Amino acid sequence: MPTPKSIGSAKARPGEIQYGKWEAFRHPTGQVEFLPVVIAQGVKDGPCLWLTAGIHGPEHTGPLVLHELINPQLVGEMRGTIVAIPALNPVGLRMMLRQPHPDSKDPNRLWPDGKPDKPHDPDKEPPSPLEVTYEKLFQAMLESADFLIDYHNAWTNSISFAFQDRILFRPDGDGTARAEAEALLGKQQEMLHAYGHTVVGEMPIKKLIEEDLHRSTSAALLYLGGKPAFTAELGTGHMPDPAIIHASVAGTRNVMRWAGMLDGEREPIQGIKVIDPGYPVRRLSTPRMKKAGVILHLLQSGEMVVKGQPVAEVKDIWGRPIGDGLVHSEYDGFVLGRSHGIFFYPGEAVMSMAVPLEGEMVEPYPNDYFKHE
Ligand SMILES: [Zn+2]
Repeated sequence: MPTPKSIGSAKARPGEIQYGKWEAFRHPTGQVEFLPVVIAQGVKDGPCLWLTAGIHGPEHTGPLVLHELINPQLVGEMRGTIVAIPALNPVGLRMMLRQPHPDSKDPNRLWPDGKPDKPHDPDKEPPSPLEVTYEKLFQAMLESADFLIDYHNAWTNSISFAFQDRILFRPDGDGTARAEAEALLGKQQEMLHAYGHTVVGEMPIKKLIEEDLHRSTSAALLYLGGKPAFTAELGTGHMPDPAIIHASVAGTRNVMRWAGMLDGEREPIQGIKVIDPGYPVRRLSTPRMKKAGVILHLLQSGEMVVKGQPVAEVKDIWGRPIGDGLVHSEYDGFVLGRSHGIFFYPGEAVMSMAVPLEGEMVEPYPNDYFKHE
């Protein structure tokens, strides 16, 4: 893609790190909300890697990964350009809220969905200031990004892993679109392999669209830009783990080597657990409680699980076992993270697991997707 000349007030300069602001929107109290921008450019030409973080307020590791990654030594060695946005949602980050004012929706479900503009409906709320901001920023991303990593945190004490989005395409008559989507899947897998952390597939396509996950930062660039992208999940968000920060920086530099932006041997990913069960996996919140109760987890994040294995003890508030006193796993797989707290209602999931993948990684958009609602 063409090298960006500037993003917001940050101007790209070969061999330099430049800092600036992307004007987002104005608060009613007069302050202008901006997104911080860093452009790091090597002296030699090369691809453009976008690195974004901080769209979810309680997830504080991503900005620290960018701070450690981008330094004069890297710029001295690299080809091409990094465009980094360390705070996609400044209000959320300051308040540690996932859905902060002025938007009540999950901000990582607000990126463009590729649907035609809907006719004006006076009974509907217009897009929020944050949604409008992301729509504009997405244009800048489309114009320059060859690859993207969006940094997040999953759950308290979860392992470091990367989400692999499934890939949607708009079917055409001759199969070209499917072939392109398959080629994109291949690139995405290479990029994830280069990053070198545990890889977990997203939920099946129908569910993913229901949850608006096709409107995440990485999914929007994959589907609408046709560029490899993924979401990095970096453990506990409110207490960043230095080992995960270092391992994510090493993984990102390995992605840059894969992309031709850095020379040298692949760096080892150290200090974190990397799990390859030997079969592809996808995320699932499981097992779910059958009755209300108080639980004590029996497993750690990153441990392998077999179907039927007890994963937690369950008691009533008086301390008496409920049923056989145990919650059992319904799947083979491994623990990504455990739901925090001890009090659970029926239907609430005790853990997030990686379970055997089902469904396709590449699928056409559903038939009714592009019709007006
Ligand atoms: Zn997140």
